[in-house]
Amino acid sequence: MSFLFTDFSGWKNYCTTHNTVLFRPLLEYQEQQNNRHEKQVWEKLAIAWEVMKEAVKTGLEEETVSRSGMINNGGKKVYTHHLSVLSPEFQKLIARSLAAKEVNSCMGRVVAAPTAGASGILPGVLVTLQDIHNLKDKKILEGLLIAAGIALIIEKKASLAGAVGGCQAETGSAAAMASGAIVYCLNGPVDQIFNAVAITIQSMLGLVCDPVAGLVEVPCVVRNASAAAIANASAQIALSEISSVIPVDECIEAMGEIGQSMETRYKETAQGGLAATSTGRAIAKKILIKDIDILPDNEVTDIMD
Ligand code: SF4
Repeated sequence: MSFLFTDFSGWKNYCTTHNTVLFRPLLEYQEQQNNRHEKQVWEKLAIAWEVMKEAVKTGLEEETVSRSGMINNGGKKVYTHHLSVLSPEFQKLIARSLAAKEVNSCMGRVVAAPTAGASGILPGVLVTLQDIHNLKDKKILEGLLIAAGIALIIEKKASLAGAVGGCQAETGSAAAMASGAIVYCLNGPVDQIFNAVAITIQSMLGLVCDPVAGLVEVPCVVRNASAAAIANASAQIALSEISSVIPVDECIEAMGEIGQSMETRYKETAQGGLAATSTGRAIAKKILIKDIDILPDNEVTDIMD
C-alpha cells in the first residue's frame, strides 16, 4: 500500500475487509514509503521509543532551564512534590509530560509527535501507561503505529501545525494520538480507539496558538501536561463505551473548519492571546534586547540598518 487512508472509516473498513489488525496497514505503508523491511520499521520505532523515554528521564534528572528563563525545572518540581492532587500516578503523568517537553524547550533531543511543540504528550502518556500496566515494549510500538495513523489522517483532513490550525492542531492532535494509543494498548476494540480520538478532539477544539515571545515555552509546556491528562480522560471515557455522538471523521472536519476560520494572530504569530498580554509583550521585548546585546557589534549594526 503506497497510499494511506484519508479518513477513519476507510481505515476501519480496510482492516475489516482484509481481516487484519489496525497497525498492519501502517506497517506496510512505512515499508513501502521508506523502502524498508518490516524488521527495519520495528527497529526505527524502537529508536523513537527510546528517545521518548530518554527525554522523560533527562527532564526529570537534569537541569532544564531555558535561555529565556521561562522554563525552570517544572517536571522535577511536580515529580517530587509532597502533595498528590489525585494519585501518585497522575502526578507522575503530569511530571513526565512536562519533563519531556521541557527538554525540547531547552534544545534537547525529542521525537516530534506530531510536532516538537507537542513532544511531551506521547512520552508522558506512554511511559506512565507502561509503568502502571506493565506493558511490553512491543505493545507500545504497536501503539505508536496507531498514533501515527491517527496523525496522518488529521494531517490530511485538517492540519498538525499551529501556524495553520492553532494549538488544537498540535497539542490537540498529540492528545488524540495518545488517547487512541492508550485504548489500543489496553486492548480496546477499533470503535473505542476511534471514539477516544473523537472525544479528545472534542475536548481540544478551538485552542489557539499564542506562544509568548514566539518561543515554544509558554503556554506550550503546561499545555503538554494538560493534553496528557485529557488524553487519559478521553481514553477512560471511550473504554467505558460512552459514545462521542459526533463520529471521529466529523470531529476532525470541525477541527479543520475552526482552524481555517481562526484569525492569523492566533496561529503562531505571537500577536494574540497570551503573547499579546502586557506581561507577554514585556517578556518579548526583554528577550529581544537580550538577544541584540549578545550579538557582535557588526551584527547589531546590520539589525539597526
Ligand atoms: S501554543 Fe503554538 S507553539 Fe505552543 S504548543 Fe501550541 S501550537 Fe505549538
